[in-house]
Amino acid sequence: MSQVQNGSPPKASTTPWSLRIVTLFGIPIRLHFTFLLFLVYLVVVGLQGQGSWVWPVLVITLFGCVLLHEIGHALVALQYHVRTRDITLYPIGGLALLQDRPTPKQELVIALAGPAVNLVIGGALFVVIRLQGINLAVPAAPSSSFLVDVMKANLLLAAFNLIPAFPMDGGRVLRSALAIYTDFNRATQIAAGIGQGLAFALGLAGFLSQNFVLVFIAVLVFFGAGQEASLTTARSFLEGHTVGDAMQSRYLTITHAATLDTAATMLLQGGQHEFPVLSGEEPVGLITSSEIARGLSDSDGDAYVAQYMDREIQTIGPSIALTEAFELFNQTGARTMFVMDEENLVGVLTRDSVSEFIMLEAARHHGKPRSGSAAPKMTDQ
Ligand code: ZN
Repeated sequence: MSQVQNGSPPKASTTPWSLRIVTLFGIPIRLHFTFLLFLVYLVVVGLQGQGSWVWPVLVITLFGCVLLHEIGHALVALQYHVRTRDITLYPIGGLALLQDRPTPKQELVIALAGPAVNLVIGGALFVVIRLQGINLAVPAAPSSSFLVDVMKANLLLAAFNLIPAFPMDGGRVLRSALAIYTDFNRATQIAAGIGQGLAFALGLAGFLSQNFVLVFIAVLVFFGAGQEASLTTARSFLEGHTVGDAMQSRYLTITHAATLDTAATMLLQGGQHEFPVLSGEEPVGLITSSEIARGLSDSDGDAYVAQYMDREIQTIGPSIALTEAFELFNQTGARTMFVMDEENLVGVLTRDSVSEFIMLEAARHHGKPRSGSAAPKMTDQ
């Protein structure tokens, strides 16, 4: 899997709940904490298996292949100067998060690169197995059956990822192929529709054959496709607009030397839940209602706002494309950005204000995505 996230400088942007284990080709490789739990589970199973480490070793080998799949996406992306923010392994697979936006043709090749890695591994193992004269159906030695299992799993991984439905790589392949002929939003809608139809058929087949793993996969695919389509539609409403169009320009600020009591009074007086903190004219942080509450609970009300404010505020220019701000919100997990025109604070952009902007634009366009856009936000899994 891989996913495109952005075109802006990454700031404090790491995949939450994950641990960096190594950096390869300049790309941080991370393990999600659920994956760490999964490793512990494998060790426990291995210990209980009384020396039968075959299964845990097989699973870890397969995750090595999943990692190679992600590195395949990342290295091909790099050929197009599309950077990868990080690769994270989850118990259900891997995810390469792309930082820049590829064109549809580039997306096509990047999406194909992952499954291609598994095809190459599977193909190479097939040759080895043939050269050693191992019987594919009934391998004699445990080491032979290990090779056969790894080969089969890689071929299965390639096939599974090529299902033409989001969030699989195949969904990206289909979308980017369609985007060569039509605009990106329309291509996403069509690809998502095909993916959901396919998921429905898959679910039905799984249900009829009592294969509930298949039903589970179908449900994941169904919602993955819907999410991709709605995200792309939402993003299309931001196109052609700048940060200045959606920012709040009327808001109250508070001085860094103000007390928490003052901040609490301001909070109660109006509908504003967070206040830019200024030192003179210069914005130095942001204090939110929850920080005011935290401050009041562990000090008395005459502590300074500066002690409890958040100092790490993302800034953005008023003429920056709103789509870029949208991606920056997703990438950094920020909820509020300061809109700075050179040295001056000219507005505040929040996730909520972007959502409201999308809602109003959607109403103006009667919910139909704007056509003519060219750029993906999320890419291939
Ligand atoms: Zn992939």
